[in-house]
Amino acid sequence: MLLAYFREMEDTIFTKIVKGEIPCAKVYEDEKTFAFLDISPVNKGHTLVIPKKQVEKFHELDDEDAEALMRTVQKVAQAVAESFGPDYNIINNNGASADQIVPHVHFHIIPRKDKSEINLEWSTTKYEEGEQDKVLEKLKANLS
Ligand code: AMP
Repeated sequence: MLLAYFREMEDTIFTKIVKGEIPCAKVYEDEKTFAFLDISPVNKGHTLVIPKKQVEKFHELDDEDAEALMRTVQKVAQAVAESFGPDYNIINNNGASADQIVPHVHFHIIPRKDKSEINLEWSTTKYEEGEQDKVLEKLKANLS
């Protein structure tokens, strides 16, 4: 139990980057956010945008950090489009089943040249009769 507590408090690799303990190719920094080149880019210019505050998942950010983060995502997307061409993906993974490896919120901004670079195919499902209404009700009840 105690061990689990200390594990939670450990700095992620991205926090170590923000603190300057691990080197990075910094693209941008402001009071609440930080952006740097991904070390294993899909394409040259693949950039990660993170909140300085160590939070694992996007929905766990407070309003101010979320707003600052989205502003920086847009700022970097503009620079990526200007530098490498108008096509790019913005990808944010949350949790193991969503392919998140580093447990610190991050948005990938990935310049794209060709469809073969990333496989974004996904399987789809269908709503049963009446199910969509229940799903909608549940989602709306949880909107804050
Ligand atoms: P994800 O699968 O969404 O958690 O992606 C984590 C990303 O972090 C991967 O694209 C890694 O290449 C990237 N990454 C991991 N360590 C570093 C590092 N030290 N500097 C830059 N990017 C990193």
